[in-house]
Amino acid sequence: MDARSDKIEALIRQLLVELGEDPQREGLGRSPRRVADSLAFLTSGYNVDIEALINGACFTQETTSMVILRDIEFYSLCEHHLLPFFGRCHIGYLPGGRVFGVSKLARLVDVFARRLQLQERLTEQISHAIMDAIDPVGVGVLIEAQHLCMMMRGIQKQSAVMTTSSLLGSFRDNATTRQEFLTLINRPRP
Ligand SMILES: [Zn+2]
Repeated sequence: MDARSDKIEALIRQLLVELGEDPQREGLGRSPRRVADSLAFLTSGYNVDIEALINGACFTQETTSMVILRDIEFYSLCEHHLLPFFGRCHIGYLPGGRVFGVSKLARLVDVFARRLQLQERLTEQISHAIMDAIDPVGVGVLIEAQHLCMMMRGIQKQSAVMTTSSLLGSFRDNATTRQEFLTLINRPRP
């Protein structure tokens, strides 16, 4: 275990005390360690080298067909409350000579989701990373998510789904392209 992880474990133990709990009692004994490990995973996106990920993910391919990857599930933590928000991310792009490996596209979503986030920023980081990586004619990213900070506290709205979209290039400028993207991601599930 590294020093930072040990430090987080100690902080969680202290947090339990401040919450009025006894960190020595049976059920909680190993919780600080588990929480430290869990947080390390949930924020592991900070440690990923995006350049390296992208370099291994892009291929030259002459095609002008729109590429869609939809229903990429993700789990993230809101930076305001450190509570989960989770949902689905839909990505579309129109290649301009290069394509993005499909599994790496899903991996890109995880890398940005496994940080403290705002849904708006997550959406834009994904679209801009794709734009920077393969210089496509256009990119669209749409995220639909539920926020536990809104469901279990605050205004306690259980079924509100927040939608954010980031449209770049032809997805922003060309109404037909934008419509094709929205139609494709809204088709009935197979
Ligand atoms: Zn929140």
